[in-house]
Amino acid sequence: MTTNYNFSIWEKESFVHYHHAIIGGGIVGLHTAIALKNKFPTHSVILLEKGLLPTGASTKNAGFACMGSATELLDDLSKSSPNEVLALFEMRRKGLADTRQLLGDDAIGYQANGSYELLNENDVHAIGKIEALNTFLSPLIQENAFTINNTIIAQNKFDINYFKTAIQNNLEGELHTGKLVKSLLHYAMHLGIEVRTGCNVSGIDEITNGVNIICNTSTEQAMVLRATTVCICTNAFTKQLLPNIDLEPGRGQVLVTKPIGNLAFKGIYHLEQGYYYFREINNRVLFGGGRNLDFDKEATTSFAINEAIINDLQFKLANYILPHTPHEIDYTWTGIMAFGNNTKTPIIQKYSPHIYLAVRCGGMGVAFGSEMGRQVAELINY
Ligand SMILES: Cc1cc2nc3c(=O)[nH]c(=O)nc-3n(C[C@H](O)[C@H](O)[C@H](O)COP(=O)(O)OP(=O)(O)OC[C@H]3O[C@@H](n4cnc5c(N)ncnc54)[C@H](O)[C@@H]3O)c2cc1C
Repeated sequence: MTTNYNFSIWEKESFVHYHHAIIGGGIVGLHTAIALKNKFPTHSVILLEKGLLPTGASTKNAGFACMGSATELLDDLSKSSPNEVLALFEMRRKGLADTRQLLGDDAIGYQANGSYELLNENDVHAIGKIEALNTFLSPLIQENAFTINNTIIAQNKFDINYFKTAIQNNLEGELHTGKLVKSLLHYAMHLGIEVRTGCNVSGIDEITNGVNIICNTSTEQAMVLRATTVCICTNAFTKQLLPNIDLEPGRGQVLVTKPIGNLAFKGIYHLEQGYYYFREINNRVLFGGGRNLDFDKEATTSFAINEAIINDLQFKLANYILPHTPHEIDYTWTGIMAFGNNTKTPIIQKYSPHIYLAVRCGGMGVAFGSEMGRQVAELINY
């Protein structure tokens, strides 16, 4: 093994060789590590994360435990095959149910406070397609996924001139994504999975019986670890390791208000095919989206703020969501997702004899992260 790292004999014997290494410590990497440890209880599993916290999407998202809004699913059906849309829907449904069962609703802050899509003039035609959409989804679920709700807009003090009507989503809930990731981390460590943060993997080199993993930290010389199998769960950052992979980064902009006295609503809300979303969290409003305003500029792994999009979010918040409620923006942040060029289906595959991939989660990883971990672990037979 070629490394300049100053290994002691003790380190070489205890900290260098693993059965399975996972690169990327977000929701998918954590679920993958857990699924592998459950499948091979006697094997050693190490998870390598470049940030001190997961530094992509998993702790930056909106915490919608989501199946997809009606206009999003209708949009998907216009671009993808019915089978692909159904398969993704099922992945989300099953993934969410498994996550809730694994960790428990209290631990992840799961609540069902209502989920709605608010329709403006451009989207109101979707109402006529709700019945067909419910029929389309009926092989997978007993109840109607969507029902029309005409009262929520006035009741929640949204702008009744801008929003014409609402579709209630009867399947979705919300969760606290910080609690979700922390619970996954605790669960993984409890199983005996070794977690290394601050470890940027700058290269992987497949050899006859495994993979050499080049790890960089800010303080030490590069260290080379070796694992028999490697799962790459680096989502939007995967091209840094595999430049030809078919995915593009997509940045998401988010703002949150200061706590608002007597906020008129709870629950989660979708707008415009899911490109905008907002929710209540601890009497604040979290509002994100707007990537569709500038797809090219937002196809980046840079975490910078896009002022034009934040201004648009502020405008929509003030005029359509909280038109009657005084509020102040507290702060903003960004997170980075990964999208396919012509598909929303994630990549879960054996890439080479010892390297596996579970990447390209779009805006759905909270819901189907556990399914991605389970499915990639299923491919590994060592
Ligand atoms: C603003 C926003 C809102 C969203 N809202 C929702 C929502 O409401 N519901 C929903 O289901 N989904 C939502 N998503 C999407 C969801 O967050 C993602 O699909 C999910 O978190 C992806 O998880 P992941 O583990 O694949 O990727 P990530 O969370 O990006 O994890 C990848 C990890 O790999 C690490 N990494 C990368 N390269 C390396 C390397 N070379 N070495 C070591 N580590 C590396 C990164 O630091 C990162 O922590 C949202 C995303 C964003 C950005």
